[in-house]
Amino acid sequence: MDMKRTLTHEWHNIRHLRAMRIYLDEEKCIGAWQCYEVCPVDCWTPNYDTRKVEFHGEDVCVACGACVLQCPEDAIELR
Ligand code: SF4
Ligand code: SF4
Repeated sequence: MDMKRTLTHEWHNIRHLRAMRIYLDEEKCIGAWQCYEVCPVDCWTPNYDTRKVEFHGEDVCVACGACVLQCPEDAIELR
């Protein structure tokens, strides 16, 4: 198993142990796309029409927190 797959596997285990989930406040989202750019496992899709991001990573998010730290509008919570 290569390093990225090993790390992703371990992050998945940690997320399940901590039972953490992403909560997106669409009202705050301004379509800056930082979450989309930093997510290591492609949990986000930009919607260029609405200027809102869409989260579809319930099963793959590894709870790394990168999107939470990068969002300029504090639109994402991990808890
Ligand atoms: S980083 Fe924040 S404001 Fe930008 S698209 Fe993602 S949720 Fe929306
Ligand atoms: S916490 Fe955010 S950046 Fe990290 S894997 Fe989950 S959705 Fe992607």
